[in-house]
Amino acid sequence: MRIFCIGRNYAAHAAELKNEVPTEPVVFIKPESCLVELGKGVAYPNHGSELHHEAEIVVEIGKDCKGISEEDAVEYISKLGLGLDLTLRDVQEELKSKKLPWEKAKAFDDSSPLGKMVDFENQDIENLHIACEVNGEVRQDGNSGQMIFSIEQIISYLSSIWSLKKGDLIYTGTPSGVGKLEKGDQIRVFSEHLGEASWRIL
Ligand code: ZN
Repeated sequence: MRIFCIGRNYAAHAAELKNEVPTEPVVFIKPESCLVELGKGVAYPNHGSELHHEAEIVVEIGKDCKGISEEDAVEYISKLGLGLDLTLRDVQEELKSKKLPWEKAKAFDDSSPLGKMVDFENQDIENLHIACEVNGEVRQDGNSGQMIFSIEQIISYLSSIWSLKKGDLIYTGTPSGVGKLEKGDQIRVFSEHLGEASWRIL
């Protein structure tokens, strides 16, 4: 199982990091070892000092597929949920400046906390709320309708390059409002449509 992640998928977030709005999806992949078991804390990594939260809507693929159209994409969704694509922003900035890959900034242990996934039952994937608060203060509040590339477009695009497998996860990008986390912080992601989950930063 793989964790596909989409970068810069909300225009306001691309702007806050001074990135251009992409003309095709920005994709990176994390290993399964990034996941955090429900109920566990998140270990602050040792190799950076600016750990950022990126709250994201997560899609689980329900059937193996390749080369599927946008029109058919919803048939391959089995579950939806909320997760965090934790990012060491200082490490990422250094890697970007050297034109190096992002794994050290994105794919470390505990970098993908994942809430409980809910069954996909034809929820309106163009209108899914997502928000995130740190120590009770709302930092991010968005909706899948603001995505540059819709969930259907993302699934179709990924499947044009990779064979998608049952159980693969797709983190679909983060709305604006990303910011720093400190040890001891309590972070909560929540949605009118997808429930909630929270983690302590250790
Ligand atoms: Zn992200």
